[in-house]
Amino acid sequence: MGIGLNLSSSAQKDEISLIVNEIFYSIQGESSRIGLPTIFIRLTGCPLRCQYCDTEYAFTEGERMNVDSILNKIKRYSTKYVTVTGGEPLAQKACALFLKKLCSHGYDVSLETNGAITISNIDKRVKKIIDIKTPGSKEDNKNNFDNLKYLTKNDEIKFVICDRIDYVWAKQKIIEKKISGIYDIIFSPVYKSLESSDLANWILEDKLNVRMQLQLHKYLWGDQKGK
Ligand code: SF4
Repeated sequence: MGIGLNLSSSAQKDEISLIVNEIFYSIQGESSRIGLPTIFIRLTGCPLRCQYCDTEYAFTEGERMNVDSILNKIKRYSTKYVTVTGGEPLAQKACALFLKKLCSHGYDVSLETNGAITISNIDKRVKKIIDIKTPGSKEDNKNNFDNLKYLTKNDEIKFVICDRIDYVWAKQKIIEKKISGIYDIIFSPVYKSLESSDLANWILEDKLNVRMQLQLHKYLWGDQKGK
């Protein structure tokens, strides 16, 4: 399934390479690190096709880079916060080793992943922000709930909410999976699709223990690439 693996033996870790869609420096728009200047490394590829996807350009476009070139490229930025995103970064099997390497170089790393691919092999130092795909995404049958057992209290679970049906589904899923109060749970409305105030009212009416979040980067820069 994975793409971008180029590792002939464990003795050649420095030769890991990945297909990189873009590397940029911006304001973190999501998660508990919202607002922090962050280096983003967007990897190419994703096995899902969510109906609201705003990074379709990352499905196939990208350039192969070895880890040393990536590290060289990011060292110019004056932050230690790095987010590895996609597409779906774990679609490339070499990503797990890459994350470990970033941590070993002193970066404070977060991983944005769609919840369909196992996170069992991800370094514990990495903050994982894992999606649970709702029916509105049209990819909810891809959720790998086995991943929940690999989460730590440092990790976050995100539901992207398309409509009221998604909201009710997500609320039930939180009960069913017994995740309330254990992990930081984020409800985020689909940009320009669901009224933010509707989602806010539903959360308050139901006294849900979740964090509502708008995608800050969308409000700053709309759908611009590299932001
Ligand atoms: S998982 Fe993310 S990158 Fe993949 S299709 Fe869904 S929204 Fe797009």
